[in-house]
Amino acid sequence: MLCAASCKNSALCPNCISHLPYLTQALCPQCALPVHDGGLCAACLNHPPAFDFSYAALAYTAPLSHLIIAAKFSGHWSLLPTLGQLLLQGVINAPRPDLIIPLPLHPARLKERGYNQAYELAKPVAKPLQLPLRLDILERRINTEHQARLSQAARHKNMHKAFYATQSVAGKHVVIVDDVMTSGSSLHAAASCLKQAGALRVDAWVLARAL
Ligand SMILES: [Zn+2]
Ligand SMILES: [Zn+2]
Repeated sequence: MLCAASCKNSALCPNCISHLPYLTQALCPQCALPVHDGGLCAACLNHPPAFDFSYAALAYTAPLSHLIIAAKFSGHWSLLPTLGQLLLQGVINAPRPDLIIPLPLHPARLKERGYNQAYELAKPVAKPLQLPLRLDILERRINTEHQARLSQAARHKNMHKAFYATQSVAGKHVVIVDDVMTSGSSLHAAASCLKQAGALRVDAWVLARAL
């Protein structure tokens, strides 16, 4: 997909995979932003998000950002199993949760795209780690991607009630999988919803962190 070399069973050749923007520096344990000392970043100290820990495999920079955009918006969904393998490598040493939930898309968005990239990324992670992958716990009720014309305050309010938990996750350690963490606001809203549904701990596993 990047260099046009022939490769079997993967969208990327080993050489291109080895040159992706891996996050090797110290990261804030809560939001995966690079920090000097590996402690909490200023944002997490001042306004801690509802998720407890974040694990990010790669930085959201070129050429990975181009691959993610192609996988999401240009129908190159066949990239997602390869990207899922990269996510798996990034979280292989993370504490194992009780269950994994892909960040849900709004049903209208899902219908438009035909697949949820977070679910496609979570599949190659959940299977080898033998973790239950659950699509029936968290629902997205507000299409927050289609609210560009709203004020920031209105968007924030919408995001706050965008997710709905269909059942209790009392006492569970839950992981939410998503493709990219940018501001972290949707992961925060989803984690806050799961905490209200009783989750003991919520971690975010993301393929890429916007820096
Ligand atoms: Zn290549
Ligand atoms: Zn942080």
